[in-house]
Amino acid sequence: MKPDVLLLKAILPDTIRALEEHFTLHRLDQAADRSAFIAAVGHDIRAVVVGGQAPATSELFAQLPRLEIVANFGVGYDTIDVAAAQQRRIIVTNTPDVLTEEVADLALGLLLAVVRRIPQADRYLRSGAWTGASFPLTASLRGRRIGIVGLGRIGQAVARRLDGFGVSIAYHTRTRRPNEPYAYCDSILELAQTTDVLIVVAPGNASTSNLINADVLAALGPNGVLINVARGSLVDEPALIDALQRGVIQAAGLDVFADEPRVPAALTAQDNVVLLPHVGSATHHTRGAMGSLLVDNLIAWFSGQGPITPVSETPWPLNPG
Ligand code: NDP
Repeated sequence: MKPDVLLLKAILPDTIRALEEHFTLHRLDQAADRSAFIAAVGHDIRAVVVGGQAPATSELFAQLPRLEIVANFGVGYDTIDVAAAQQRRIIVTNTPDVLTEEVADLALGLLLAVVRRIPQADRYLRSGAWTGASFPLTASLRGRRIGIVGLGRIGQAVARRLDGFGVSIAYHTRTRRPNEPYAYCDSILELAQTTDVLIVVAPGNASTSNLINADVLAALGPNGVLINVARGSLVDEPALIDALQRGVIQAAGLDVFADEPRVPAALTAQDNVVLLPHVGSATHHTRGAMGSLLVDNLIAWFSGQGPITPVSETPWPLNPG
């Protein structure tokens, strides 16, 4: 008997095929009436697959009495109620490492695009304006001091790339990393005061909510650039819009937003932003690797080997309790 797995939202076709090969897959994403669907299959479900930032709530868990494991398609699992999972002794897995380099590449691409105004220059050429005058000079990375918010897997990969750019690098995390060669700031405000670029790569959770607020943006200053490839919840979006409109900071590059896929018109109206539709890991190569790791976690779990990449809140073996 194949274990019953509930898919909340569509993910890669190859990953869905792999899930169908190993499990009895129930597709909530294709259900006309989601409540009726869960009422019909909920009792059999032993695993939930979370893709596309679908919410996995305590209400959902309560309808799945045999649920053992929640597998997330992504490293950030802020849409999963991990406290409820912990309480019910449900394992949560994510897909760390396999996307690290891809997201770091995108962060650097976004930084260069913002500072050198690459999308604006492309639009300028396409509009025919080049025949009239040269594209206006832009800001530069030369002499920049870069602050990385979150020096974990992706933050370190960003820092290694920046090493090659000849810029100075500092970071803020809750715990200092003594083996890293970069300057440590024990507060986000200090990091913003001593740098002019912030690259945000910390997880979205209660401890990071609105970490980048009006005070931090003011400290970053008029040459300041904000790059966010983490989660929209880390940035006070109205404060950022205000800072961009009033020149409190110079520019921003955002891959993530507070209420995706809705992006405020006040942001799209700004010329000093580069906006991406949450594509940090969105390549064939990396999404494929994420799908394989997700499926491998479930195969390992149901063959009794334990999960491969459980999140820190639901370690394996489970703490006694
Ligand atoms: P890691 O867990 O490896 O690193 C997280 C880092 O953030 C650590 O250095 C941690 O240090 C720091 N951190 C955590 N809480 C805080 C806090 N309150 N204040 C300051 N720093 C903090 O995660 P990854 O590098 O693998 O991923 C980071 C995030 O990137 C993910 O959680 C995800 O949300 C986002 N992401 C976005 C993608 C996209 O498509 N745009 C794709 C992939 C990931 P410490 O614990 O010492 O504070």
